[in-house]
Order: sequence, then structure tokens, then C-alpha cells
Amino acid sequence: MSAIGQARIIRCPNCGRKNRVPAAAGGRPRCANCHKPLPWIADALDDTFAEIAEKADLPVIVDMWATWCGPCRMVSPVLEELAGERAGEVKLVKVDVDRAPRVSSRFTVQAVPTLMILDHGEVIARQAGAAPVAVLRRWFDDAMLQQRRARKSVGAGAEGGTPRDDS
Ligand SMILES: [Zn+2]
Repeated sequence: MSAIGQARIIRCPNCGRKNRVPAAAGGRPRCANCHKPLPWIADALDDTFAEIAEKADLPVIVDMWATWCGPCRMVSPVLEELAGERAGEVKLVKVDVDRAPRVSSRFTVQAVPTLMILDHGEVIARQAGAAPVAVLRRWFDDAMLQQRRARKSVGAGAEGGTPRDDS
């Protein structure tokens, strides 16, 4: 597999070991030392967005940001904190809108920061503007809960409506 985008050095929140984390890969990154899930943070542009964000097999928070945007600089560490808290459950993909005109126009990004949650390439939540970590944490967790419920009802329908408890 050829390398897509740039790998980042991520320090393991559990043991402190520095790990090289690829921008795109199957599964989810784990610490080479203690094997705990690592926060996954990657940068994507027009030509790498599909591989890095849409093909990811875990939910993705997309941060559409710009270098000249003050609120973006505030929300960036907040999202990284969230990616750390939800390590193994989410991937954070940062897109510089000025360097990714196709992705920006495809999602009609009219303001920065614009945040989106993608599940296998589908936008399941969207939010414009910066927000504190408590708000974004609830935004993410609510979207995940709704997505699980939606998937559950689809699954139950396909199986003839048999209720199933897989919580
Ligand atoms: Zn570790």
C-alpha cells in the first residue's frame, strides 16, 4: 500500500511513547508499546480526502479550517482533545479550505470552521463555528447514538423486525 498523505507523530496518552501514525490505514492505530488505541489525527486535501476521510472504517470528524481564521485556532486543540478522549472511536481529519477547493465546494462550506461527522463517507452531523469541548463532545456522542439507533432499526427490519439488544 502506498502512503497517503503525511504520517503524524502521536504521543501515546497512556504510556508516553511516540508513535508514527499513518493518515490512512485499515483498522485503528494502536500504541506499539502498550497497545492502547491512539488518537488519530490526519490532514487531508482534495486528492487525499476520499482515502483519508471517506474510506475510514470508523467515524470521522472533519475540521474544515483556514490559516487566517481565529475561531479555527481555538477549536483545533478542542477537537484534538476530543480525538484523545475518544481514541479508537473517531478519526479527526483536518482540511485547510484554501488548499482544498473541491472538498470545500462539495460540502458547500461557507464559513470556517465548519465541522462535520462522516460515517463511511455519509455526513451525519454538521456544525458551523467553534464551540467548547463539552458542547462538541455531546454533539459527537449524540450523533453516534442516533447513528447506532438508525442502524439498529434498519438491521431489525432486514431480519423481520426481531428486537435485538446488542448494547
Ligand atoms: Zn502506549
